Amino acid sequence: MSAPREIPSSIPRVGLGWDLHRLAPGRPCILGGIRIASPVGPVGHSDADVLLHALCDALLGAAGLDDLGTLFPDTDPQWKDTPSTRFVEEALRLLETKGLHPLSLDAVLRCDRPKIRPHRSAIREQLAGLLSLPPDRVNLKGKTLEGSSSGPETIEAQVIVLLGEKDA
Ligand SMILES: [Zn+2]
Repeated sequence: MSAPREIPSSIPRVGLGWDLHRLAPGRPCILGGIRIASPVGPVGHSDADVLLHALCDALLGAAGLDDLGTLFPDTDPQWKDTPSTRFVEEALRLLETKGLHPLSLDAVLRCDRPKIRPHRSAIREQLAGLLSLPPDRVNLKGKTLEGSSSGPETIEAQVIVLLGEKDA
């Protein structure tokens, strides 16, 4: 086996995050840090923000760090009921220690309820703010399940990010 190839640190790194939560009536629906009116909301630890959980894993993954569940375990009372924006801030702080920052983000939210389209620009703006990126470097699509699910109602998020060197 040959030695690992040397890759200049200025070459951007890509990261992929995925998350899924069950939906239940009466739960608050917080997506990308925005609370939206919805008859159902994600069930889970902290505020169950499926989009920010996937975002954290994308950021951490691109930086070669452990995933969200390992860094902020849901068994640790410190993270109980924590707004997921805190996890994003923590992930960005870890990236900072490696001299990395986000360059762009693209995301897909997959659910039948709530409808994403009316909230798309608000969520996009919020994500851009969290990552200190111009809005045209952040995008979001809403997709439905097209009747393909026979199990419990769920919401799924996929996020891809590009990271670059802070001073590149
Ligand atoms: Zn989650």
